[in-house]
This record gives sequence, C-alpha cells and structure tokens, in this order.
Amino acid sequence: MEKKVNPVRNTVSNRAKAIGLLSGGLDSIVAAKLILEQGIEVEALNFTTAFCTCTSKGSGCLASQKAADQIGVPLKIFDISEEILDVVKHPKFGYGSGMNPCLDCRIFVFKKAKEYMRESGADFIFTGEVLGQRPMSQRREAMNTIERESGLKGYLLRPLCAKLFPPTLAEEKGIVDREKLLSISGRSRKGQIALTKRFNIKDYPCSAGGCLLTDKGFAQRMEDLMKYKPDFTLPDVLLLKYGRHFRMSSSVKLVVARNESENYLIASLKTDEDIMFHAQDPLGPVSILRGSTGGEFVDEAASITARYALGKDNEGEVKIRYFMTPGEDRFLKSGPCRESAVNERRV
Ligand code: SF4
Repeated sequence: MEKKVNPVRNTVSNRAKAIGLLSGGLDSIVAAKLILEQGIEVEALNFTTAFCTCTSKGSGCLASQKAADQIGVPLKIFDISEEILDVVKHPKFGYGSGMNPCLDCRIFVFKKAKEYMRESGADFIFTGEVLGQRPMSQRREAMNTIERESGLKGYLLRPLCAKLFPPTLAEEKGIVDREKLLSISGRSRKGQIALTKRFNIKDYPCSAGGCLLTDKGFAQRMEDLMKYKPDFTLPDVLLLKYGRHFRMSSSVKLVVARNESENYLIASLKTDEDIMFHAQDPLGPVSILRGSTGGEFVDEAASITARYALGKDNEGEVKIRYFMTPGEDRFLKSGPCRESAVNERRV
C-alpha cells in the first residue's frame, strides 16, 4: 500500500485508519474488533446528549469508555447536548415511537464524525449498526438516507452487515477485506454473542445504553414542553428528567421531587427566575415553579407540594419555605390540594 502523510499527525504511515462510533454496546465492540483484526488503526468517538441514560453527571459515556479500555483504542467523547436540541425541535424525517428523531439524530452525529475523519486523516468511518435491528434508523432505506444526507456515501462501513450492502470505498480500495466482514441482520444478537468468544470480549452491557426520547413518560413531558415552549433550552430539558410534572398554565410549570436525591437534583436546576419551594414541617419535597414571573400559582404550587409532603389522603397543614432569590425566604402554611387537582395538572 502506498505510504500516506497524515495531515494532522504529520507522520508518514502506511497503516490505514478508521473512526469508529462506539456506543459501548456489544455491536459497536464487535464491529471495532472486526476492523482491528484487519490491522487497521482505530480511533473511537462517542457523542453524548442530555437524553442519554448511560451518562453520569458530565463524566461522559461510561459504557463507551469501558468498551474503549477493553479493546484498547483511544476514545474521544463529545457532548452535543446543546446542538442536538435543534434537531429534536425540527426533524426533517420526523419522530419514532416517542419523540426520538432517530434519522436526523444519526445524520447530525455522522456529519460530526465526518468532520473528525477529515481532520484526523482517517480513511473511513464504521459503526456497529445491524440491518433491521432498530425499527426507525436501521431499515435499509433509512440507512441509505442517513449515509446520503450525512455526506458519507462510500465512507460509511457497517462491518456487522457490510455484505448486505454494496462495497464501500475502503473495501474497493482493498483497505478492508470484504470477505472478513459479516452479513448479520435482524434483532437477534446471537451472531454477535457468538463472536464474543472469538474476540475474548468478557464484559459488555445488555444494550447500548438508552435514549430518553424513546421513553413513553419522558416523551410525553417533551411533547408538552415543545407545545408550550417551542424555543426551549437545555435547562428545560434537564428539568424533564426528574420529579413529577404539573402544567399550571401555558407558560407556568411545577416540578415536584419524588425522593431525597431528587430534592438535591431539582434544587440544583433552579434558575434565577424559578420559585423554589421546600416542605419544612413535616419535611418533604423540593418543588420548582418555572415561568411564574409575577408570583402566579404560588398558593397552588405550595398546596401540591404539601400533598406530597403529607402523602395521599392525609390531612393537615405543611409549613413551606419558598423563594425566588436565595436569602429572601418566605414562609406559608398550606393544606394539601385535592387529588383531582393533582390529576388535572399532571403532565
Ligand atoms: S434513539 Fe435517541 S440517541 Fe439514538 S438515534 Fe434515536 S434520537 Fe438519537
């Protein structure tokens, strides 16, 4: 093979290089192994968002880091939480069963990976995708659309099902031996599990993490947010992840923590304009009232907070502290609201 100069590393190398999208699930690990087995250098990328369920407070994707360590490849993690919001708001190819714009999301991520491929002087990109495994983004037509729209035609290799697609440029040029690629399709993971022995893969998660946009409950909250606040921002999305949600009006929402750890999480998400409530006696949940710029719904928010401090069907009064600006605390006593009021407001 002809020696080539890598423009970024400024080194002369005759070793081909591939960029792998590593979710950390079994499919992406096996795909990386199939490429590494061919003597090709691999660098892994992982894109995390606020919708990923496998991330832990800003530390990136733990599953992908574990997978990269296991197979011995360098990994770069990109947090695209802000950027992906536009994709979620205006998907060209629509949503899946929840509020998941999978095709647009993949196209966005692949465009980012393409930029990285160019910068790093790599020859192609590969993924652990399997034809027919996922209903929205892994149908043949969808996979072709994603490849075309991301500008990766010919540069996107899916080693697990490559033989079910026309050869990519890397195969045509002989960088990758097509005969060593696979033709797996469908939802069963038997083929991939069989390969774990061959590649000595001992530790892998059941699936490649999750996406909250496909979760029914989260999707309902997301839909509510998009209806009433189409120009939503990341703090709005973060608040959707925790607590019980109540729609007070088209512009005002209340979020009540479900347990002690959510008390801390919800308190940490308070913005300067939010009003925060905390049940003091008896001790109970933290709540955040968002959008109430003139103090509307304070009494009702206190009463819903009191309902969860006392528990269902209990009477009495709850002492509640509330404030918009820290240090300017106010107190009120509130009885629990009726159960029907809770149900009417609940998102
Ligand atoms: S499931 Fe979520 S993260 Fe995965 S492609 Fe769909 S929208 Fe993107």
